[in-house]
Amino acid sequence: MSPSPAPPVSWPAGKRAAASFTFDVDAESAVLSTHPQAADRMSLMSHQSYGPLVGVPRLLRMLERHGVRATFFVPGWTARRHPGSVRAIAAAGHEIAHHGYLHEPLTGTDTATEASFLDKGLDALEEVAGVRPVGYRAPMWELTHRSPGLLADRGFLYDSSLMDADTPYELAVPGGRSLVEVPVQWALDDWEQYCYLPDISGTGLIESPRKALEIWTLEFEAMRREGGCFVLTTHPFLSGRPSRAAALEELVERVAGCADTWLAPLADIAHHTRSLALPPRVVDRPDPRL
Ligand SMILES: [Zn+2]
Repeated sequence: MSPSPAPPVSWPAGKRAAASFTFDVDAESAVLSTHPQAADRMSLMSHQSYGPLVGVPRLLRMLERHGVRATFFVPGWTARRHPGSVRAIAAAGHEIAHHGYLHEPLTGTDTATEASFLDKGLDALEEVAGVRPVGYRAPMWELTHRSPGLLADRGFLYDSSLMDADTPYELAVPGGRSLVEVPVQWALDDWEQYCYLPDISGTGLIESPRKALEIWTLEFEAMRREGGCFVLTTHPFLSGRPSRAAALEELVERVAGCADTWLAPLADIAHHTRSLALPPRVVDRPDPRL
């Protein structure tokens, strides 16, 4: 079957576009999942723990200054290692969503293993923050074709890991079910701009926050004209650094000041999308031998 584009969506009254600021609170987990021996690297680990220790409080203060509620994707392991930081996010009224347990890559795993990551993450978020998340984002945005079914089995409302639309849509799930998908894209991620982890990630080139702000602002303004849904993904261990948080604040202030743009956590955008009763889209596995 040929894929078809997502249908248009309508936004709440008076709004022509939507936007959401999302934060992936990976902390040490994004390194440890693929490089467990990096636990021995005290300095590298401290670069990652800067996120929950310093970045999260700074970003929470920044969001509060503008009255903006955001979505924080928290691996279950991060919640257990940094419970105070994760509880502060929840206490500030932000959405906490699921982001794996130890930020495990899903490609190459089997169904039972992927399910165990989901269940361990749910248990940890419940235990630490008293939260049952409705949203999920796959580590590294690498969903598998079985992920939507596993998410629907557990009552999730939405996923935010795919990249084939400018607007949210209903993703068809086997068994006549569906999951709201709120798409993302690599250009709206701070990892490509700022992340340098020696021997692990990045080239050593660290971009200016001015350049990141320019890319994101241009995409926001164009997405606004197109009536799309702007979803920015940043990481507290990267964008929680002072000059980057300051640049991000300029964008938050700009978006929050646009009366024609609905700025909301992803859960609100997903609930709205669900209320539209859109026909589910099939996103199937392409056959390389077609
Ligand atoms: Zn992540």
